[in-house]
Amino acid sequence: MKLAIVGGGQLGRMMAQAALPLGIKSLLLDPIADACGVDCGELLVAAYDDPASLDSLAQQCDAVTFEFENVPPAAVSRLAKDIPAYPPAQALETARDRWNEKSLFQSLNIATATLALVDDQASLVQGVAKVGFPCVLKTRTLGYDGKGQKVLRSSVDIEGTFEELGAVPLLLEGFVDFDYEVSCLSVRGRDGECVFYPLVENEHRQGILHKSRPLLNHPLQSQAAQAAQAVMEAIDYVGVMAFEFFVQGDHLVANEIAPRVHNSGHWTIEGSACSQFENHVRAVMGLPLGSTETSRPIAMLNVIGKRPDIHKLLAIPGVHLNDYGKAERQGRKIAHINISAVNEADLLVRLDAVEGILVNNL
Ligand code: AMP
Repeated sequence: MKLAIVGGGQLGRMMAQAALPLGIKSLLLDPIADACGVDCGELLVAAYDDPASLDSLAQQCDAVTFEFENVPPAAVSRLAKDIPAYPPAQALETARDRWNEKSLFQSLNIATATLALVDDQASLVQGVAKVGFPCVLKTRTLGYDGKGQKVLRSSVDIEGTFEELGAVPLLLEGFVDFDYEVSCLSVRGRDGECVFYPLVENEHRQGILHKSRPLLNHPLQSQAAQAAQAVMEAIDYVGVMAFEFFVQGDHLVANEIAPRVHNSGHWTIEGSACSQFENHVRAVMGLPLGSTETSRPIAMLNVIGKRPDIHKLLAIPGVHLNDYGKAERQGRKIAHINISAVNEADLLVRLDAVEGILVNNL
């Protein structure tokens, strides 16, 4: 069996890595010749919308999946015409646009922040009157890792802001004074079976994910899973979907979905019976889903920009380094570290030790 993966970055690489033991080879499409997925599968170097390359993927592979949501829609429909393509085009379209995804949440009675559409400076003023300060103004499309957004705290922040964010369609959201952020890694198979990983607590730094930790037996687990299942069923989803929420007291406020394997699920590689990557491959290939059972304490830290001293790192027990083989560059995710332990106290000691190494590495 052969899987086509559009995108040859670290997510494509880890999907290809998970596919190998299942006897599934991967063919990755990426415009960059040294995309890091090349170590784990065959790489086709071409633009994402190159017709001949898309046809070649379809001819050689049994199914196709996507590493990111901003695949050109024409490329998705060209592929879907010839081979099973998951997640479906409708899911990518929904997740690409913050207004579309939040409208879907609201239609399913899933709570969101107060919202207002902004198409020019005048509608920004009207939106602020509806939503109130503080609020967050975001580009409807192409925003990630906190890019393309601005927190507005008073009327001085409104002046010229529509232009500042590129004079593109925007969404204004009420500022959610959350306690912490979580994500629910959810999987839906081709036959409609759904499984869920334990809720993950996520900590961001400078807009980039820093740390993720599964929270076993969290009281909001079933509420999150129900919301995720409702969304996946509404868009006939297949594969792994990450649903990000804010936790405020004893309830969830939906933020966004990522229609793909997600950074906040990297801990599942060593933490769960079947990782998010293997489950995504299983779902897309029409295979039975694997267990999401997670029993031991585990956490994940991202490595940004620069490699830490591998000797020091691996001297800490319970450390699992996953280096993506990418060149070092400021702000770039180049590896993650999963840290496991038999109990909570040991995990915290090990986490502290790894965080110490990462801080000194900056
Ligand atoms: P996003 O790109 O929507 O995931 O936003 C990036 C980060 O900005 C989130 O992980 C939150 O930490 C913060 N954020 C986004 N939207 C809101 C909001 N409505 N209220 C408070 N914080 C937010």
